[in-house]
Amino acid sequence: MRRKTSPIWHPFTQHALQPEMVRIERGEGAYLYAADGRRIIDAISSWWVVTHGHCHPAIVRAIQAQAEKLTQIIFAGHTHEPAEQVASALLKLTPPGLDYVFFSDSGSTSVEVALKMALGYWHNIGEPRARIVVMQHSYHGDTIGAMSVGARGVFNAAYGPLLFDVSAVPFPHEGQEQATLDALEQACRAKPAAFIVEPLILGAGGMLMYPAWVLKEMKRICEAAGVWFIADEVMTGWGRTGTLFACEQAEVVPDIACYSKGLTGGALPLAVTLCRGEIFDAHFSQDRSRTFFHSSSYTANPVACAAARANLEMWQDPATLSGVTEVAAMQERALAPFRADARFKNVRRTGTITGLDLDVRDSGYLAGIGPRLLEFFGGRNLLLRPLGNTIYVMPPYCVTSADLDEIYAAIADAANLH
Ligand code: PMP
Repeated sequence: MRRKTSPIWHPFTQHALQPEMVRIERGEGAYLYAADGRRIIDAISSWWVVTHGHCHPAIVRAIQAQAEKLTQIIFAGHTHEPAEQVASALLKLTPPGLDYVFFSDSGSTSVEVALKMALGYWHNIGEPRARIVVMQHSYHGDTIGAMSVGARGVFNAAYGPLLFDVSAVPFPHEGQEQATLDALEQACRAKPAAFIVEPLILGAGGMLMYPAWVLKEMKRICEAAGVWFIADEVMTGWGRTGTLFACEQAEVVPDIACYSKGLTGGALPLAVTLCRGEIFDAHFSQDRSRTFFHSSSYTANPVACAAARANLEMWQDPATLSGVTEVAAMQERALAPFRADARFKNVRRTGTITGLDLDVRDSGYLAGIGPRLLEFFGGRNLLLRPLGNTIYVMPPYCVTSADLDEIYAAIADAANLH
């Protein structure tokens, strides 16, 4: 039974339940303008990417200027100024120890690259290792490798037979942090290739937050065991947690780090995987079979790199981080009343991200309340996409406190839906 007028198959969309898509014509700052004339507040930065707001003038200008000069070039054997400037700006903003930058196109591919770098290192030094240690409830993307290191569940049940086996440590729920650390120590004894983790916040797994000291301990355990520590900062990067990168709060220097989403200020698809010099060195050889065999057609696309360069210039200005601190404070003020509201559980915030769980019997991603919440928020002209019964707010940094008032008033009303 097919009842669909458009031939477009949308991502993470159940077309049988949502036959009509919201048609957006224009975006400006924290607002989207729909074809039917509505102004919609983008409370989730369009899947967590639009950090500085839609169509930020500096990023738009950078894209326009680059598009006049060079829009695409094969990145094997060639380079260009925007990519070189992005790489050197990134290395200035990230902690010393991360020495090389590999470009790709999405968060998922930056994770695939990270996994391949880790395995490539062990292979090339002649001590092959394959096992990856992960954290329960993690999400690292939707490609087969990224799904394999993410939580098993409804998102990937159909593909289970294709996913490779991993060792999972439990999420460090409050009071159970030591169990996580013990499990990681145990898993590291089996000499895995790497441990991959989302620092401070597990995003699509339910906006689950854990403290910086646990992150620091996890890095210490990996380092002592000689296991590569991969930080997936695809969501947490670019100020989301209150610092430019989440790892800074734990004074952790990852061995491999993945950044995407806000890398271009959310304007164009681009990702990077940074790594330690030793990992590059293991691939640096007269022996061509040790080459890092990874590419995509659009690796380091010059227009995307120009957008990223404009974003990185914004982060070199301390005012950008002050703006983030201000958004974090506004979010805390807006969230405070919910901490005493019995209709919500686990009211939480890390930096600019807040999360609240509606206290319903039926929880999880497929919670019955999900589609009703989506419809309700749409009716209030808000772009909010709860993860089941978990409502979260991750706004662009140009959001105003009046916008947040509108967002949280709707969240309070949504609690009366069930
Ligand atoms: N890692 C994390 C932590 C993410 O949150 C996401 C996307 N939500 C990804 C990886 C995958 O990124 P992309 O959707 O760009 O492939």
